[in-house]
Amino acid sequence: MIPAQFEYEAPGTLAEAVALLAQDPEGTKVLAGGHSLIPAMKLRLAQPQRLVDIGRIRELSYVREQADQILIGALTTHYELESSELLKRICPLLPDCAGSIGDVQVRNKGTIGGSLAHSDPAGDWPAAAISLNADVVLVGPKGERTMKAVDFFVDLLTTALQPGEILREVRIAKPQGRFGHAYQKVPHPASGFAVVGIAVNLSLNSDGSCSAASVGVTGVASKAYRPRAMENALAGKQLDEQTIVAATAHAGGHDGPRSAGRFRT
Ligand SMILES: Cc1cc2nc3c(=O)[nH]c(=O)nc-3n(C[C@H](O)[C@H](O)[C@H](O)COP(=O)(O)OP(=O)(O)OC[C@H]3O[C@@H](n4cnc5c(N)ncnc54)[C@H](O)[C@@H]3O)c2cc1C
Repeated sequence: MIPAQFEYEAPGTLAEAVALLAQDPEGTKVLAGGHSLIPAMKLRLAQPQRLVDIGRIRELSYVREQADQILIGALTTHYELESSELLKRICPLLPDCAGSIGDVQVRNKGTIGGSLAHSDPAGDWPAAAISLNADVVLVGPKGERTMKAVDFFVDLLTTALQPGEILREVRIAKPQGRFGHAYQKVPHPASGFAVVGIAVNLSLNSDGSCSAASVGVTGVASKAYRPRAMENALAGKQLDEQTIVAATAHAGGHDGPRSAGRFRT
Protein backbone atom coordinates (compact mmCIF):
# COMPACT_ATOMS: atom_id res chain seq x y z
CA MET A 1 0.00 0.00 0.00
CA ILE A 2 1.08 3.56 -0.57
CA PRO A 3 -0.23 6.50 1.47
CA ALA A 4 -2.89 8.88 0.21
CA GLN A 5 -1.53 12.14 -1.20
CA PHE A 6 -0.33 14.72 1.33
CA GLU A 7 1.61 17.97 1.55
CA TYR A 8 4.96 17.97 3.31
CA GLU A 9 6.71 20.67 5.34
CA ALA A 10 10.04 20.40 7.14
CA PRO A 11 10.46 23.41 9.44
CA GLY A 12 13.81 24.19 11.07
CA THR A 13 12.47 25.52 14.38
CA LEU A 14 9.79 24.60 16.90
CA ALA A 15 8.13 28.01 16.45
CA GLU A 16 7.81 27.40 12.70
CA ALA A 17 6.37 23.94 13.33
CA VAL A 18 3.74 25.31 15.73
CA ALA A 19 2.81 28.02 13.20
CA LEU A 20 2.45 25.45 10.40
CA LEU A 21 0.24 23.23 12.57
CA ALA A 22 -1.92 26.23 13.49
CA GLN A 23 -2.82 26.75 9.81
CA ASP A 24 -4.84 23.49 9.77
CA PRO A 25 -4.68 21.74 13.16
CA GLU A 26 -7.20 19.01 12.30
CA GLY A 27 -5.74 18.12 8.90
CA THR A 28 -2.06 18.18 9.85
CA LYS A 29 0.02 15.55 11.60
CA VAL A 30 3.46 15.79 13.15
CA LEU A 31 6.03 13.43 11.65
CA ALA A 32 8.93 12.44 13.93
CA GLY A 33 10.69 9.09 13.32
CA GLY A 34 7.82 7.91 11.14
CA HIS A 35 7.97 4.33 12.46
CA SER A 36 4.34 4.35 13.59
CA LEU A 37 2.80 7.09 11.46
CA ILE A 38 4.11 5.98 8.05
CA PRO A 39 2.86 2.38 8.45
CA ALA A 40 -0.53 3.79 9.56
CA MET A 41 -0.60 6.04 6.47
CA LYS A 42 0.33 3.17 4.19
CA LEU A 43 -2.61 1.21 5.60
CA ARG A 44 -4.79 4.35 5.17
CA LEU A 45 -5.55 4.25 8.89
CA ALA A 46 -4.24 7.82 8.92
CA GLN A 47 -4.79 10.20 6.00
CA PRO A 48 -3.45 13.62 6.99
CA GLN A 49 -3.68 16.43 4.46
CA ARG A 50 -0.26 17.64 5.50
CA LEU A 51 2.75 16.37 7.42
CA VAL A 52 4.93 18.68 9.48
CA ASP A 53 8.23 16.84 9.74
CA ILE A 54 9.94 17.89 12.99
CA GLY A 55 12.95 15.65 12.27
CA ARG A 56 15.26 18.59 11.51
CA ILE A 57 14.47 20.59 14.64
CA ARG A 58 17.69 20.06 16.57
CA GLU A 59 16.38 22.02 19.59
CA LEU A 60 14.04 19.05 20.27
CA SER A 61 16.82 16.49 20.63
CA TYR A 62 18.69 16.35 23.96
CA VAL A 63 19.13 14.61 27.28
CA ARG A 64 20.31 16.88 30.09
CA GLU A 65 20.25 17.45 33.83
CA GLN A 66 18.70 20.57 35.31
CA ALA A 67 18.77 20.82 39.09
CA ASP A 68 16.90 17.74 40.36
CA GLN A 69 15.36 16.91 36.98
CA ILE A 70 16.24 15.02 33.81
CA LEU A 71 15.04 16.79 30.67
CA ILE A 72 14.54 14.82 27.45
CA GLY A 73 13.68 16.46 24.13
CA ALA A 74 10.79 14.82 22.30
CA LEU A 75 12.87 14.10 19.22
CA THR A 76 15.52 12.12 21.13
CA THR A 77 15.75 8.69 19.56
CA HIS A 78 15.42 5.39 21.35
CA TYR A 79 19.11 4.74 20.52
CA GLU A 80 20.24 8.06 22.00
CA LEU A 81 18.42 7.15 25.21
CA GLU A 82 19.73 3.60 25.19
CA SER A 83 23.33 4.82 24.86
CA SER A 84 23.19 7.90 27.11
CA GLU A 85 25.99 7.70 29.70
CA LEU A 86 24.18 10.29 31.81
CA LEU A 87 21.05 8.13 31.99
CA LYS A 88 22.98 4.94 32.63
CA ARG A 89 24.42 6.71 35.68
CA ILE A 90 21.40 8.50 37.11
CA CYS A 91 18.32 6.73 35.72
CA PRO A 92 19.20 3.35 34.18
CA LEU A 93 15.54 2.39 33.74
CA LEU A 94 15.42 4.63 30.67
CA PRO A 95 18.33 3.00 28.74
CA ASP A 96 16.93 -0.39 29.82
CA CYS A 97 13.56 0.44 28.34
CA ALA A 98 15.04 1.98 25.17
CA GLY A 99 17.18 -1.09 24.51
CA SER A 100 14.11 -3.32 24.55
CA ILE A 101 12.40 -1.49 21.68
CA GLY A 102 12.16 -3.12 18.26
CA ASP A 103 15.45 -3.52 16.41
CA VAL A 104 18.43 -1.30 15.58
CA GLN A 105 16.67 0.46 12.70
CA VAL A 106 13.62 1.23 14.83
CA ARG A 107 15.79 2.49 17.68
CA ASN A 108 17.81 4.72 15.33
CA LYS A 109 14.74 6.47 13.92
CA GLY A 110 11.96 6.18 16.50
CA THR A 111 11.66 8.92 19.11
CA ILE A 112 10.45 9.05 22.69
CA GLY A 113 8.03 11.88 21.81
CA GLY A 114 6.57 9.92 18.90
CA SER A 115 6.15 6.85 21.02
CA LEU A 116 4.39 8.73 23.83
CA ALA A 117 2.21 10.71 21.40
CA HIS A 118 1.22 7.50 19.61
CA SER A 119 0.08 5.84 22.87
CA ASP A 120 0.33 2.34 21.45
CA PRO A 121 -1.18 0.01 24.08
CA ALA A 122 1.93 -2.17 23.75
CA GLY A 123 4.47 0.68 23.57
CA ASP A 124 7.33 0.54 26.05
CA TRP A 125 7.85 4.24 26.82
CA PRO A 126 4.38 4.85 28.30
CA ALA A 127 5.02 2.27 31.06
CA ALA A 128 8.44 3.72 31.86
CA ALA A 129 7.16 7.31 31.83
CA ILE A 130 4.25 6.73 34.19
CA SER A 131 6.33 4.59 36.54
CA LEU A 132 8.83 7.47 36.85
CA ASN A 133 5.96 9.92 37.44
CA ALA A 134 7.18 11.90 34.40
CA ASP A 135 5.76 15.19 33.21
CA VAL A 136 5.24 15.99 29.54
CA VAL A 137 5.50 19.50 28.15
CA LEU A 138 3.13 20.33 25.29
CA VAL A 139 3.36 23.43 23.13
CA GLY A 140 0.72 24.84 20.81
CA PRO A 141 -0.65 28.09 19.43
CA LYS A 142 -1.95 29.09 22.88
CA GLY A 143 1.44 28.52 24.54
CA GLU A 144 2.86 25.78 26.71
CA ARG A 145 1.32 23.43 29.27
CA THR A 146 2.75 20.69 31.45
CA MET A 147 0.91 17.60 32.61
CA LYS A 148 1.57 14.28 34.29
CA ALA A 149 2.29 11.46 31.86
CA VAL A 150 -0.27 9.31 33.68
CA ASP A 151 -2.97 11.84 32.67
CA PHE A 152 -1.56 12.23 29.14
CA PHE A 153 -2.55 8.69 28.11
CA VAL A 154 -6.30 8.78 27.59
CA ASP A 155 -7.08 5.54 25.75
CA LEU A 156 -5.97 3.28 22.93
CA LEU A 157 -3.87 5.44 20.56
CA THR A 158 -5.37 8.51 22.23
CA THR A 159 -3.64 11.15 24.32
CA ALA A 160 -4.46 14.53 25.81
CA LEU A 161 -2.66 16.26 22.91
CA GLN A 162 -4.99 18.78 21.28
CA PRO A 163 -4.95 19.45 17.53
CA GLY A 164 -2.06 21.80 16.81
CA GLU A 165 -0.01 20.79 19.86
CA ILE A 166 3.47 19.30 19.83
CA LEU A 167 4.97 17.26 22.64
CA ARG A 168 8.17 19.19 23.30
CA GLU A 169 9.84 17.64 26.35
CA VAL A 170 9.69 14.86 28.93
CA ARG A 171 10.71 15.75 32.51
CA ILE A 172 11.64 13.21 35.14
CA ALA A 173 12.69 13.83 38.73
CA LYS A 174 16.13 12.32 39.33
CA PRO A 175 15.82 9.20 41.46
CA GLN A 176 17.21 10.04 44.91
CA GLY A 177 18.60 8.06 47.85
CA ARG A 178 18.61 4.28 47.74
CA PHE A 179 16.59 3.11 44.80
CA GLY A 180 16.33 0.21 42.43
CA HIS A 181 14.50 -0.04 39.17
CA ALA A 182 14.13 -2.24 36.12
CA TYR A 183 12.20 -2.63 32.90
CA GLN A 184 11.23 -6.15 31.86
CA LYS A 185 9.10 -7.25 28.97
CA VAL A 186 7.85 -10.37 27.27
CA PRO A 187 8.25 -9.46 23.59
CA HIS A 188 5.87 -10.75 20.98
CA PRO A 189 7.91 -13.21 18.91
CA ALA A 190 6.88 -11.63 15.60
CA SER A 191 6.69 -7.89 16.27
CA GLY A 192 8.91 -7.44 19.34
CA PHE A 193 6.21 -5.29 20.93
CA ALA A 194 5.37 -6.02 24.57
CA VAL A 195 2.88 -8.79 25.19
CA VAL A 196 3.44 -7.46 28.67
CA GLY A 197 6.02 -4.93 29.85
CA ILE A 198 6.56 -3.69 33.37
CA ALA A 199 8.63 -0.82 34.73
CA VAL A 200 9.30 -0.94 38.46
CA ASN A 201 10.86 1.75 40.65
CA LEU A 202 11.55 1.05 44.30
CA SER A 203 12.85 3.44 46.96
CA LEU A 204 14.49 1.74 49.88
CA ASN A 205 14.83 2.65 53.56
CA SER A 206 18.20 2.24 55.28
CA ASP A 207 17.08 -1.17 56.61
CA GLY A 208 16.36 -2.35 53.03
CA SER A 209 12.60 -2.19 53.35
CA CYS A 210 10.64 -0.53 50.56
CA SER A 211 9.64 3.06 51.33
CA ALA A 212 7.74 3.59 48.05
CA ALA A 213 7.02 1.70 44.85
CA SER A 214 5.85 3.02 41.50
CA VAL A 215 5.03 0.69 38.65
CA GLY A 216 3.94 1.06 35.02
CA VAL A 217 2.41 -1.77 33.01
CA THR A 218 2.00 -1.94 29.23
CA GLY A 219 0.66 -4.48 26.75
CA VAL A 220 -2.30 -5.77 28.71
CA ALA A 221 -4.86 -2.97 28.59
CA SER A 222 -5.98 -0.23 26.22
CA LYS A 223 -3.28 2.04 27.61
CA ALA A 224 -0.40 1.86 30.05
CA TYR A 225 -1.46 2.08 33.69
CA ARG A 226 -0.14 2.16 37.25
CA PRO A 227 -1.35 -0.81 39.31
CA ARG A 228 -1.80 1.07 42.59
CA ALA A 229 -2.75 -2.02 44.59
CA MET A 230 0.54 -3.63 43.55
CA GLU A 231 2.48 -0.53 44.59
CA ASN A 232 0.69 -0.51 47.96
CA ALA A 233 1.47 -4.19 48.46
CA LEU A 234 5.21 -3.40 48.20
CA ALA A 235 5.43 -0.11 50.11
CA GLY A 236 6.57 -0.41 53.70
CA LYS A 237 7.52 -4.08 53.37
CA GLN A 238 10.77 -6.04 53.38
CA LEU A 239 11.10 -7.19 49.78
CA ASP A 240 11.30 -10.91 50.33
CA GLU A 241 10.01 -13.44 47.83
CA GLN A 242 6.67 -13.87 49.58
CA THR A 243 5.94 -10.11 49.47
CA ILE A 244 6.94 -9.80 45.82
CA VAL A 245 4.88 -12.81 44.74
CA ALA A 246 1.87 -11.52 46.69
CA ALA A 247 2.25 -8.07 45.09
CA THR A 248 2.29 -9.45 41.55
CA ALA A 249 -1.25 -10.74 42.07
CA HIS A 250 -2.32 -7.08 41.86
CA ALA A 251 -0.55 -6.28 38.56
CA GLY A 252 -3.77 -6.55 36.54
CA GLY A 253 -4.83 -2.96 37.23
CA HIS A 254 -8.23 -1.39 37.02
CA ASP A 255 -9.42 -2.09 33.50
CA GLY A 256 -8.25 -5.67 33.21
CA PRO A 257 -6.32 -7.43 30.50
CA ARG A 258 -7.15 -7.04 26.83
CA SER A 259 -8.94 -9.91 25.19
CA ALA A 260 -6.73 -12.30 23.24
CA GLY A 261 -8.27 -11.04 20.00
CA ARG A 262 -6.72 -7.63 20.48
CA PHE A 263 -3.13 -8.81 20.89
CA ARG A 264 -0.74 -7.99 18.07
CA THR A 265 0.12 -10.64 15.58
C1 LIG B 1 9.21 -3.01 13.19
C2 LIG B 1 8.84 -2.13 14.34
C3 LIG B 1 9.02 -2.61 15.63
C4 LIG B 1 8.68 -1.80 16.73
N1 LIG B 1 8.85 -2.29 17.98
C5 LIG B 1 8.52 -1.53 19.03
C6 LIG B 1 8.67 -2.01 20.36
O1 LIG B 1 9.16 -3.12 20.62
N2 LIG B 1 8.30 -1.19 21.37
C7 LIG B 1 7.79 0.07 21.16
O2 LIG B 1 7.47 0.77 22.11
N3 LIG B 1 7.65 0.56 19.91
C8 LIG B 1 8.00 -0.20 18.86
N4 LIG B 1 7.86 0.30 17.60
C9 LIG B 1 7.32 1.66 17.43
C10 LIG B 1 8.48 2.66 17.46
O3 LIG B 1 8.98 2.77 18.76
C11 LIG B 1 8.05 4.05 16.97
O4 LIG B 1 9.22 4.74 16.72
C12 LIG B 1 7.24 4.87 17.91
O5 LIG B 1 6.06 4.25 18.32
C13 LIG B 1 6.80 6.18 17.27
O6 LIG B 1 7.86 7.08 17.26
P1 LIG B 1 8.19 7.86 15.96
O7 LIG B 1 9.21 8.90 16.34
O8 LIG B 1 8.55 6.92 14.89
O9 LIG B 1 6.81 8.62 15.68
P2 LIG B 1 5.97 8.82 14.34
O10 LIG B 1 5.68 7.51 13.70
O11 LIG B 1 6.60 9.87 13.50
O12 LIG B 1 4.62 9.44 14.96
C14 LIG B 1 3.75 8.64 15.72
C15 LIG B 1 2.55 9.49 16.15
O13 LIG B 1 2.93 10.47 17.11
C16 LIG B 1 2.72 11.80 16.59
N5 LIG B 1 3.91 12.55 17.01
C17 LIG B 1 5.21 12.20 16.83
N6 LIG B 1 6.02 13.05 17.48
C18 LIG B 1 5.21 13.97 18.06
C19 LIG B 1 5.46 15.10 18.90
N7 LIG B 1 6.70 15.45 19.29
N8 LIG B 1 4.40 15.82 19.31
C20 LIG B 1 3.14 15.47 18.95
N9 LIG B 1 2.84 14.40 18.19
C21 LIG B 1 3.88 13.67 17.77
C22 LIG B 1 2.56 11.64 15.09
O14 LIG B 1 1.76 12.67 14.54
C23 LIG B 1 1.91 10.28 15.00
O15 LIG B 1 0.53 10.39 15.26
C24 LIG B 1 8.17 -0.49 16.50
C25 LIG B 1 8.01 0.00 15.19
C26 LIG B 1 8.33 -0.81 14.12
C27 LIG B 1 8.16 -0.27 12.73
